[in-house]
Amino acid sequence: MATMTAGTSAAPIPFLDLVAQHRGLENQLVEAFRRAVQGARFINGPEVIGFEQEFATFVGAGGCVGVSSGTDALRFALGALGLRPGDEVITTPHTFIATTEAVTQAGGTLRFVDVDERTMTIDPKLIASAVTPRTVGILPVHLYGHPADMDPILGLARKKGLWVLEDACQAHGAKYRGRQVGAIGDLAAFSFYPGKNLGACGDAGAVTGGKAELLDVVRRLREHGQGQKYYHDTEGYTGRLDAIQAAFLRIKLPHLAGWIDGRRRAASWYGEALAGIAGVQTPQEAEWANHVYHLYVIRVDHRADLQEHLGRLGIGTGLHYPLPLHLQRAYVHLGFKRGTFPVAERTSDRLLSLPMFAELTEGDVARVADAIRSFYR
Ligand SMILES: *Cc1c(COP(=O)(O)O)cnc(C)c1O
Repeated sequence: MATMTAGTSAAPIPFLDLVAQHRGLENQLVEAFRRAVQGARFINGPEVIGFEQEFATFVGAGGCVGVSSGTDALRFALGALGLRPGDEVITTPHTFIATTEAVTQAGGTLRFVDVDERTMTIDPKLIASAVTPRTVGILPVHLYGHPADMDPILGLARKKGLWVLEDACQAHGAKYRGRQVGAIGDLAAFSFYPGKNLGACGDAGAVTGGKAELLDVVRRLREHGQGQKYYHDTEGYTGRLDAIQAAFLRIKLPHLAGWIDGRRRAASWYGEALAGIAGVQTPQEAEWANHVYHLYVIRVDHRADLQEHLGRLGIGTGLHYPLPLHLQRAYVHLGFKRGTFPVAERTSDRLLSLPMFAELTEGDVARVADAIRSFYR
């Protein structure tokens, strides 16, 4: 009988397998590239406009503006929302640093609040007490593909006259009470970094929303503040969506819903296979949420040893994110101490991201689960 020991011939299970995703699409991607080279419309043009329309339709948002990354999407959205130096923005320390860079590099001030233990997204109960007279907006992050609890956030924002910008960079297609993220707040930022649920073959991003006047400002900011060529209403940036990336994204977008189904299927296999292992907490999906599992993040005891054990068995894992932002060296000047945001800190100490992609098989998931079970035995 074959035994499960380190060094068996079982193929490695990577953390993410973009090669598998591209296998069936390669001809179409190469063909799109050829068309783009032959057409030589590399800046703006029909591929960009086509993708913007198709992605707005997918999200169910009034409009979409393609930009060069998720970080630029956040930056230009904050510009459109009128962020000024000294303005305070409420967000959580349990996210990727792009969320907060966009705020501080525009001169904004971060007001962190802790995350909810169950969803690992911003805890809406803690937001009201973080609002000051200088607060201008709330920036919830739909982390890992699980939406933040938006209704209380929107209710508070309305009451206090704040805007809401969704960081949807990990949550393409996720739903909150039946509404798709990206069409809930005033604006939303998406990333098409290759590893995201919808990824380009390079950097790309988009801003979505229902307010045409805000999207118009984003459109100007991505192109040097110009409404009309060489007439500049403001200064802006070089932050357009590359036409070749738009062409690639148009090939992938029709597959996104199926890929999300694949991720949700893998998550349910994991949920069953990992049930009842003491020391392992699997991710929860709130009753109002449709999770798209950009990452499948469990919380565990003895993480470093488990990660090493899985690595030895050829199973790829990741840490998203090992140190909350308020404890990063980049933010020492903010003066936060350990203990300030206990849920974020406890979560960061215990989290472990398991392999997650649409092509993962039930056998792969069973092998990962067996490897975890064998570690705790
Ligand atoms: C990926 C990501 C971003 C930034 O997107 P880029 O396209 O890499 O600039 C912002 N916020 C979150 C939560 C992300 O995961």
